[in-house]
Parts: sequence; structure tokens; C-alpha cells
Amino acid sequence: MSKVLKCPICGYGNHFVIPFLDTNLDKSVKRRYLIEHTITLSQYSDASIGINKYDSYITAHVCKKCGHIELYAEKLLKEIASGKERLNEMIGIRKKELPSLKKEINALESKLKQIDENLSTIEKSLIDENITIKRHKELEEEYKHLQQDKYSAKSKIDSVKNKLTPIESEIAKLNSKLSKISEEKPSDC
Ligand SMILES: [Zn+2]
Repeated sequence: MSKVLKCPICGYGNHFVIPFLDTNLDKSVKRRYLIEHTITLSQYSDASIGINKYDSYITAHVCKKCGHIELYAEKLLKEIASGKERLNEMIGIRKKELPSLKKEINALESKLKQIDENLSTIEKSLIDENITIKRHKELEEEYKHLQQDKYSAKSKIDSVKNKLTPIESEIAKLNSKLSKISEEKPSDC
């Protein structure tokens, strides 16, 4: 804790800081204190963002005047913050993929609309008794081509949507993980 703490019991502003070291968290540091304790948030775990659980040693601040002890899990807060940061980064990366896919779908959908309009124009022409047999055949040919175009536009839309849907559901999943971190309750270990 870098800020100056006031003792909640006697109001004195000077204290000893005792970093209770946990050998599980930092193997390079030898056990120096008799009292050891860690606090863990394990309800939330996600290997995909490199978080299995949040651990923290507990730092104690002992009032130099009355001996009251205040405990802080500083590392825990930092780990939670960096977990949130990682999730936000991942959400940002995935969100960047959405606009181009949506644009592609919109373009294909307006193409489809145009094809449908052309098809119905041809349908009207085909029942016109005044057209020649030659023209009738041409129109039928054109109609066939447009139907093929329609089919291909539709399957392209489906394939772009197949790319879009998993991204959107992943974003939703990441967002729910993000809100879970905030709701999480600590558990003793
Ligand atoms: Zn005190």
C-alpha cells in the first residue's frame, strides 16, 4: 500500500509493513515469516486468458502506537485488474472483425434484392403475349442465370453469417466472464 494509512482504532498514521510471503507465489523468496496466509479467488477460472485462479499474499500494516493490524491483498487486486484488461483486449480484437463481415452481408443482401427485382420484371415480361419467341427464349435464359446468381448470393450470405455468429457469441461469452470477475466473492484457502 503506497498511500498513508491511518489506524482505524487510534488514528495514528505510522505503521510497520509486514509483507507475509507465500512460497507458492514466489519460489525465489525464502519463508521469512511465521504467519503465512494467502487469499484466493477461484470461482472464476479461465485458462484461455491465462487465469487459473487469482492468488495474493497478504500484506499486514501494524500500527506503531496501538498494535492494531490491517490486512491487504494487494496482488489480488492487481491480478483482477489485469484479468479484466486481458478480457477487454480480447473483446476489442474480436469486435474489430465485425464491421467488415456486416458490410459484406449488407452488400450481398442488396444484391439479392436487386436480383429479386430483376426476376419479377422478367416474370412480367414472360407473360406478355406481344413478345417474340426469340425474346421469350432470351428472357428464360436470363431468368435461369439470375436464379443461379440468387442461389450463390444466398449461400455466400450463409457462409459470412457462419463466420459472424461464433464471433458474436464469443464476445458475449467474454463479456459475461468480465462481469463474473466483478461479482466474484473471495474464498479462503
Ligand atoms: Zn493504532
